Amino acid sequence: MNGKHDLIIVGGGLVGAAMALALKGSGLKLALVEGRPPQALPADDSWDPRIYAISPTNAAFLDRLGAWQNLDASRIQPVSAMRVWGDDGRACLDFGAYETGVPELAFIAESRLMADGLWRALEGQDNVEILAPAGCAALAFHDDAAVLTLEDGRILEASLVVGADGRDSWVRGQAGIEVQPRSYGQKGVVANFAIEKPHRGAALQWFREDGILAYLPLPGNRMSMVWSTWDAQADALTALPAAELCERVAEAGRHALGKLELITPAAGFSLRLLNIGSLVRPRLALVGDAAHNVHPLAGYGVNLGFQDAMTLAQVLKERGPEKDCGSLPLLRRYDRARQEDIVAMQLTTDSLQKLFNNGNPLLKLARNTGLGLTNRQGWLKKALIRHALGYTI
Ligand SMILES: Cc1cc2nc3c(=O)[nH]c(=O)nc-3n(C[C@H](O)[C@H](O)[C@H](O)COP(=O)(O)OP(=O)(O)OC[C@H]3O[C@@H](n4cnc5c(N)ncnc54)[C@H](O)[C@@H]3O)c2cc1C
Repeated sequence: MNGKHDLIIVGGGLVGAAMALALKGSGLKLALVEGRPPQALPADDSWDPRIYAISPTNAAFLDRLGAWQNLDASRIQPVSAMRVWGDDGRACLDFGAYETGVPELAFIAESRLMADGLWRALEGQDNVEILAPAGCAALAFHDDAAVLTLEDGRILEASLVVGADGRDSWVRGQAGIEVQPRSYGQKGVVANFAIEKPHRGAALQWFREDGILAYLPLPGNRMSMVWSTWDAQADALTALPAAELCERVAEAGRHALGKLELITPAAGFSLRLLNIGSLVRPRLALVGDAAHNVHPLAGYGVNLGFQDAMTLAQVLKERGPEKDCGSLPLLRRYDRARQEDIVAMQLTTDSLQKLFNNGNPLLKLARNTGLGLTNRQGWLKKALIRHALGYTI
């Protein structure tokens, strides 16, 4: 054996890195295995097209981990309002942080900036051994330990393996967990734009017959687009010359932010729903996209992953010194604590996606009427939004 640990985390993306940080001071000895070498931030001030809406609850979690404060504050945009339109062009749901009783609804931050913030926080952590880049070759689960063999021949043994290796999780496959993801037949097309009119901190979203379009505010006169649409249209959008893409996106967003200028190339990410049932097996726990995939219309995938990391770390820290951290009864506490949140988010996003991507005229009337009615019921609107943000109503 080349190394004995309490826990091996495979995957050092945003969720895996947060998981390692959340176990700081736990007394547990960790190995973090990441396939890619650490990524440096670009020397110029270019923008990352991968943008996340981070909930205030998760921003506070990352702050407690010592990562949020590593992010350049001038590149984080607080969201103070949100406006959502139905597909009849009139129904609208709008809400602000002030009327909801919260300082902000979310923060918009770049993926690579967050990864950098998390990895810099890890540098000072003495209970984690970082192996990056390192390829995984084999993983075996025994009664008393899990054994991971790396491509370079090193062998790691631990009581628990945490699979944080993303949607096509190798760890999940090695554990024999078969998955049947349901493709939405859609891609999320992302790109950043310079904008003519100020966004004033508002996130805008249109439920359209051809998909769901979101404009997320970025610092300065910029915004980040996520347009979830059918594969053929998504491919056509990413193939458009810059000027034509700007025209299409501005028109689809009813010129709400005036003229657009493309500042990052457009890229498409295929969308799917994945529910694997239980997130645990003896000596295995899955977190983040390895454990669940949701439609990005609510901007919640990585937010769910951060909550997985927070919950699993808490269960491990509270287990008592004599307890095996890979035992199934212990891991089931993590699974039980996460299921409601994950299923609720999957049901909500999946139902909204189905409700709006449907040409039935009766459904169209019902969904737009529902949006308008909810907007007029101040108490209901406030309760729904506070619940979505993770506050006690
Ligand atoms: C268009 C779009 C927009 C989105 N917008 C939002 C949003 O606004 N807000 C939000 O919360 N979520 C959003 N999401 C979801 C979000 O992107 C994912 O939920 C999140 O990236 C998952 O993070 P992760 O760390 O679990 O996985 P990943 O980011 O996939 O990280 C996995 C890591 O594991 C490593 N790895 C993989 N295999 C191995 C291996 N065998 N050995 C070692 N290392 C390995 C990879 O190199 C990687 O670093 C969006 C998704 C899409 C498609």
